[in-house]
Amino acid sequence: MIMTAGYRCGKGTDMEDQKCKEKKLKKKVGLLVLIDVICEVTIAFTILNEVHDHTLYECPECGVKFVPTLKEFAFANHTPKTRKLTCPNCGSKEYCEESYR
Ligand SMILES: [Zn+2]
Repeated sequence: MIMTAGYRCGKGTDMEDQKCKEKKLKKKVGLLVLIDVICEVTIAFTILNEVHDHTLYECPECGVKFVPTLKEFAFANHTPKTRKLTCPNCGSKEYCEESYR
């Protein structure tokens, strides 16, 4: 019997058919997981970007208000109301208080 290159189950023995169906299912699940991960990363990045665009930080040392880079903002240690950032004015690395703009 000649098998074609496509994924058509139900042509071989029961065992081959079972394996074929399993392969198809694994492919579908893999694709769904990939789509899910892409969606989650996109949503997380959108939220992060939105929060970054609307926040301002005040240096506790010199009082200057500044906007950190997105990279510094994303990876800095933080509490719900503060974030550990380097002040662009005095260079101190402290927990700066967050405010909205
Ligand atoms: Zn400062």
